[in-house]
Amino acid sequence: MTRVVVAGPTGRMGQLLCEEVRAAGLVLAGALERPGHPRLGETIAGAKITDDVDAALAGADVYIDFTAPEATIALAARAAGKGVAGVIGTTGIDAAGQAALETSARKIPLVVAANFSLGVAILCDLAERAARALPGFDLEVVELHHKLKRDAPSGTALAVASALARGRGLDPKTATRAARAGDVGARPEAEIGVFAVRGGDVVGEHTAYLMGPAERIEITHRATDRRIFAKGAVRAAAWVAGKAPGRYGIRDVLGL
Ligand code: NAD
Repeated sequence: MTRVVVAGPTGRMGQLLCEEVRAAGLVLAGALERPGHPRLGETIAGAKITDDVDAALAGADVYIDFTAPEATIALAARAAGKGVAGVIGTTGIDAAGQAALETSARKIPLVVAANFSLGVAILCDLAERAARALPGFDLEVVELHHKLKRDAPSGTALAVASALARGRGLDPKTATRAARAGDVGARPEAEIGVFAVRGGDVVGEHTAYLMGPAERIEITHRATDRRIFAKGAVRAAAWVAGKAPGRYGIRDVLGL
C-alpha cells in the first residue's frame, strides 16, 4: 500500500489532504510541518505532526506538498536525496524555483500542477482548442480567489494563459501580461492579459475570454470546495509512486 507523507498538514489544503489520503485507502505515513509550528507533536488523521524531514520521509513512497515556495523547493531537494516521489501543488514558484524543481526531478518523479481539479484540466484543453480555432480573437484570463491567497495572478490563471498561448503558437513567457494601468495604448494582438480579483472566501474561479468582433466566448470553471484539489493530488500520489524520475503534470496523471 502506498505510504504518503503530507507537508503542511495543518494548512487549509493540508488538512483535507490528510483526510483524503486515508479515504483513498493509502497510508498516511507522516505529517511534516515547519519548525516552530505550534501544533508540532499533535496527531492529525492518525499521524504525528513533526518538523523532522528525514524521519518523516524515511519509509515513505511519496510526499504531497501544498505549502509555500521556499519550503517546497527545499523539500523537493531533500526528497530527491532520499528517492521519495513527490506531488507538488504549491503555487507562486518563480523561475529559479522551477529550475530547482527540474534538478530534483532528475532523481525522483514529481507531479507539479497549479491546479489538481479535473475540471480545470478540461478548461485548459478547451481554451487551447478554442484559441487555435479563433485566430483573430483577443485572449484574456480573469481569476477570483479568497482574500488570504498570497500569490497573484493564480498559478491556475497562468496555466490557462499558457494553454491559450499554445493554441496560438505564442510563447507564454512573453505573451502573458499580468497587469494594465495608465496610458497602456491599444491592445497588442499577441498579448494575453491575466487579472486577479481577491475577496471573501472564493475557493477559485477562472474564466478564459476569447473576444472577437461582435461576439465573445467565456469558458469558466468554478470550484466551490477545495477538497477537489486534495482528491486530485491524492490520485496523483497513487499514480506517481514507482514512476521513472522526471517532471509530470496533471494531464499525465489523467491520461489526457
Ligand atoms: P495555508 O497557508 O493554509 O497552508 C500552508 C501550510 O504549509 C501551513 O500549515 C504552513 O505551516 C505549512 N508550511 C509552511 N512552511 C512549511 C515547511 N517548511 N514545512 C512544512 N510545512 C510548511 O495555505 P493553503 O491555502 O493550504 O495553500 C497552500 C499552497 O497550495 C498555496 O501555494 C496555494 O496556492 C496552493 N494551492 C494549490 C492548489 C492546487 O490544486 N495545486 C489548490 C489550492 C491551493
